[in-house]
Amino acid sequence: MRLEDLPPVREALEAAGLGARKRLGQHFLLDLNLTRKIARLAGPLEGETVIEVGPGPGGLTRALLEAGAKVIAIEKDARFLPLLAEIGVRSDGRLQVLEADALTVDETALPPTAPIVANLPYNVASPLAVKWLTGPRRPTSMTLMFQKEVARRLVAAPGSKDYGRLSVLAQALCEARIVLELPARAFTPPPKVDSAVVRLLPRPDRPSDAQVAALQRVTQAAFGQRRKMLRSSLAALGGEALCAAAGLDPAARAETLTVESYLKLASRVEQTPPPPA
Ligand code: SAM
Repeated sequence: MRLEDLPPVREALEAAGLGARKRLGQHFLLDLNLTRKIARLAGPLEGETVIEVGPGPGGLTRALLEAGAKVIAIEKDARFLPLLAEIGVRSDGRLQVLEADALTVDETALPPTAPIVANLPYNVASPLAVKWLTGPRRPTSMTLMFQKEVARRLVAAPGSKDYGRLSVLAQALCEARIVLELPARAFTPPPKVDSAVVRLLPRPDRPSDAQVAALQRVTQAAFGQRRKMLRSSLAALGGEALCAAAGLDPAARAETLTVESYLKLASRVEQTPPPPA
């Protein structure tokens, strides 16, 4: 029994009589040529253990297994388990499926550096990205499909309208690049917007966990009032004195600051305890 002997994903889905559930962000990739392309973008996978979130009917899962990976797939919708079990028996035990919510699954129970590859459910894609960026695991790479607007925010440069908290956090921790754009019609059913795959590779000079926590406080304050000057948006964290200590212009606004400048601010704030809740 081999993976290649499985029916096309669309046929398997139809035979199982499974429709897409909107509230679970279900937009499937049924074209194996596309999912193989995503698996290739995720790098050489032979012998690698990969985490996939939301395998659904298993189009991407099949491509990852074909590329020689061992896959730990986390799926919230139990209706897909029989389809995934079929894929499992054809891949020499290289597929492990966890029926769980990826938002709450215990990350420390997963292999500590395993890369993540996923066509993410859009309704929870940003919180999942933040969880993985700041969480206890250190994936060697993340190759993730987002709706295009979120993908643009992840890679946005200072001064652009997409630049915000997510851009600073992602780029402080990783090198982030859009590696593939897909039109809505590539999915079944098609979502309302186009999509893009972002590849995130950890920066070798990753800031400490304390600095990341401080960075989140700074970006929340700065972008929470993005039209204001830093001296007032950062008032609660030290305002003018904080900017001076970090060598920054207190009259600047959040969207003009580089990631490096945010890291300087975070280093200063790191010493200051957060206010009582
Ligand atoms: N990987 C499949 C593909 O490319 O065709 C399906 C992708 S679909 C965009 C998102 C998948 O994530 C669905 O299978 C959905 O059931 C699953 N999902 C949604 N929310 C989830 C969550 N919180 N935890 C785990 N899986 C979730």
